[in-house]
Amino acid sequence: MKEYQRKPEWLKVQIKDTKKLVQVNEILKANNLNTVCEGAACPNRLECFSKRTATFMILGNNCTRGCKFCNISGGKPETVDMEEPKRLAKAVKEMGLKHAVITSVTRDDLDDGGSMHFYNTVKAIQNTSKDTIIEVLIPDFQGCSESLDNVIKSSPDIINHNVETIERLYSSVRPEADYEQSLHLLSEVKDRSNIYTKTGFMLGLGEKKEEVYKLIDDLSGRNIDFLTIGQYLPPSKDHFPLDRYVSPEEFDDYKEYALKKGFKFVASAPLVRSSYNASEFFEAVVNR
Ligand code: SF4
Ligand code: SF4
Repeated sequence: MKEYQRKPEWLKVQIKDTKKLVQVNEILKANNLNTVCEGAACPNRLECFSKRTATFMILGNNCTRGCKFCNISGGKPETVDMEEPKRLAKAVKEMGLKHAVITSVTRDDLDDGGSMHFYNTVKAIQNTSKDTIIEVLIPDFQGCSESLDNVIKSSPDIINHNVETIERLYSSVRPEADYEQSLHLLSEVKDRSNIYTKTGFMLGLGEKKEEVYKLIDDLSGRNIDFLTIGQYLPPSKDHFPLDRYVSPEEFDDYKEYALKKGFKFVASAPLVRSSYNASEFFEAVVNR
């Protein structure tokens, strides 16, 4: 943060009913699983769990990259747990999830980037919870088409890959990623399948308004179906500093612009996260 900025009212969420959270935690603990919801203490947990949506993180807790905004730890990548897909599918069933989001730490150390683990996880859920909508939030696989193919072949309902920020900020915010590579990955999914695509980015990292419009233009050129835009909140003072809190009205402006550009569904508000209201997104579009 450039200087101390008080959190605006629109970002304050109080979790009153903790019973549901305890219940979900027990299932996750019993199955030895990680969720982004709990890991990041996401303020939307109660709402998402009540709507039977959760985001699981596979392939361990240690990421091979070091994005400056992210709270996931670095360190030695863990051995791939071949039983994890089965346990995750069991938890999806026990939680009665309507919409399961599967993401992972980035595993640049693995030849396939962990893509076969995504494949096995999607298949395991399809085998046990036939009606659950499956969304995968994938890394860029360093641009490897074969790895992306593994994910496409598992036939999830949605493939999501977040661009996170505007092009100019990549070198300081996502130094190991590449803007064009991320855009290309999203195009490739559309070129090779009928799977819905989704992406998202954060505001408050220092982007200018015209740069946000340019980013939306670049994304709309890739025929992406869903877009999420949310406020960046630094996990600690050691993370990338917050530039500003963006007003709900400015979020609305971007939503209006993105819808005009052809996105099928846009969620743009301070508390929006990549997986927030994920099932509403999907239902709104497929039931049209
Ligand atoms: Fe979990 Fe995403 Fe909902 Fe947060 S917004 S609680 S990470 S599903
Ligand atoms: Fe976090 Fe993903 Fe970056 Fe890893 S690649 S540090 S999990 S945002």
